[in-house]
Amino acid sequence: MEVVITPDYDALSRKGAELVASLLDKKPNAVLGLATGSTPIGLYKELIRMHVEGRLDFAQVTTFNLDEYVGLPPDHSQSYSYFMWEHLFKDINIPRHAIHVPSGTTTNHQSYCEWYEEEIRRAGGIDLQILGIGGDGHIAFNEPGSSLGSRTRLKTLTEQTIEDNARFFDNLSDVPRYAITMGVGTILEAKQCVMLANGEKKAEPVARAIEGSVTSMNTASALQLHADVNVILDEPASSQLKLRQYYNWVYQNKPKK
Ligand code: PGA
Repeated sequence: MEVVITPDYDALSRKGAELVASLLDKKPNAVLGLATGSTPIGLYKELIRMHVEGRLDFAQVTTFNLDEYVGLPPDHSQSYSYFMWEHLFKDINIPRHAIHVPSGTTTNHQSYCEWYEEEIRRAGGIDLQILGIGGDGHIAFNEPGSSLGSRTRLKTLTEQTIEDNARFFDNLSDVPRYAITMGVGTILEAKQCVMLANGEKKAEPVARAIEGSVTSMNTASALQLHADVNVILDEPASSQLKLRQYYNWVYQNKPKK
């Protein structure tokens, strides 16, 4: 696991975008796993900037999003489909058919989730998965107690997640209680994972995920089992890490490839 501590959110976003850009340089038809939430918005802005400047081409890229709220149609302003369209897809040249966001309106959840997993496999698997981390340590909507081997499925959200996400809705009671989410096991199959976290509020879950035990009580800790993970933090999100200085030293002394 490579832990990179950047000075601020802009630097974190640029660093994340550089990792995506270097993958697309090597593999223009890469499969990207995408996340929603406030954390990756800066990274998406950076990707759009690089695309507008002619540096990045998404014509051959395929994407799979981590999750979607159950009950929200794609044109709902708080659906993750809508979020992705507004924050990334409308401003890059990705073909519509190459975009996959789980459906919030499917009625047969089990077969839909199996189909979603199958689509990921058919695409050749995810090359790079972008992740945020929740206040309760979740990755995607894999709330505490989610099996570390879990696959794409219907999941009940915790009260903390519902409260964390209430800021995007008019009323707390409007926040969906369920989501379709890739499982921890699904995420661990991505060839590379990039987890981003910014702000003081993330310091505690980040420290538990990186320096605590691997446990389903903090599903981000499962990334310790993955062979290729970049964790990109800003200063406040790194503030509870015990080995902060060591991570900086390792990064500064990274062997040249
Ligand atoms: P946030 O959410 O980016 O809005 O903080 C992260 C998450 O819940 O995974």
